[in-house]
Amino acid sequence: MLLQELKKILKENNFFLSKSLDQHFLYADSILKREVEYAEINTEDKLLEIGPGIGTLTEKILEKTNNLTVIEIDSKFEPLLQKNVGEVIIGDALKVEWPECNKIISNVPYSISSPLVFKILEQPIELAVLCLQKEFANRMVAEPGTKNYSRLSVNCAVRADIEFLETISKGKFFPIPLVDSALVRLRPKNIHLPEKFDDITRAIFQHKNKKLRNALMDSYHEIGTKEEVASFVESLGEIVQTKVFKLTPEDIINISSQY
Ligand code: SAM
Repeated sequence: MLLQELKKILKENNFFLSKSLDQHFLYADSILKREVEYAEINTEDKLLEIGPGIGTLTEKILEKTNNLTVIEIDSKFEPLLQKNVGEVIIGDALKVEWPECNKIISNVPYSISSPLVFKILEQPIELAVLCLQKEFANRMVAEPGTKNYSRLSVNCAVRADIEFLETISKGKFFPIPLVDSALVRLRPKNIHLPEKFDDITRAIFQHKNKKLRNALMDSYHEIGTKEEVASFVESLGEIVQTKVFKLTPEDIINISSQY
């Protein structure tokens, strides 16, 4: 879609875009097409798109399949979406029930990136193709020992196979956002993790530059009683001297399985 066409749709429908709902529309046809290609859509697939807005990406998905449901929080886009999409759910993607699907595609509203990605990681789906803030995408794929390595990186590594696909310049959106974006593909692994994995990961990454021993004790309340966590620390051996940001995802699985 050309920028003039996008502006025409907004004008004709009297759409005023909401900053708080992250209403920045990607309009570059070649990128939208590639984004859909990354989803490897075939005839059996059931797709979910989150945050379609006026439907720039939706239009490209519909060139591949009609088996699509969209979830959009802003009801002003409903009439436009109803024209082409079989099932339109108006509501907050973090609150409404998601329809059954095997692939998710979304130009993610940046303010809900973190809870949305964590939710997607838990879905029994084949893959998700997501457009996210570039810095956020960098944190998703960050390796242990690097400055971007975080609780998000650990969760992405253990719960999915993840690929950073390409950077998208902020100039490809209207209105132009403050930051560049990136496309990421996730293939959730739906693996079984130790019961305390989430609590321990959350606790220790609150102190990622500290040694594991100190990080665990400083956030013991996230895990158990002070006495329980102290005795856990003593049982772990040498690894408690390692700084949190140097622990690999496998180390963290191993540590949590010992609680
Ligand atoms: N898909 C369009 C595109 O590619 O140009 C728009 C993406 S825009 C970054 C984000 C869209 O998500 C907006 O249409 C916004 O109204 C919608 N949105 C924001 N928060 C949402 C939420 N919690 N649940 C569902 N949709 C939401």
